[in-house]
Amino acid sequence: MNESESVAGGSCPRCGWPVAEQQIVSSHASSLGQLRYQTCVCGITLVVLAGDVVAAVSATA
Ligand SMILES: [Zn+2]
Repeated sequence: MNESESVAGGSCPRCGWPVAEQQIVSSHASSLGQLRYQTCVCGITLVVLAGDVVAAVSATA
């Protein structure tokens, strides 16, 4: 356990909002770490794997 408070990639690529402050839509355990789907304040959905943003999905209805 030697992690800093925030790591690179731990924020929204669009607006920079930290993933720790976003609403968690769903959370799943995976072999690579905790996988979460989160909705950012800017309206996009982020896929977060073990605290890092791995994908961002714009919700364009
Ligand atoms: Zn955002």
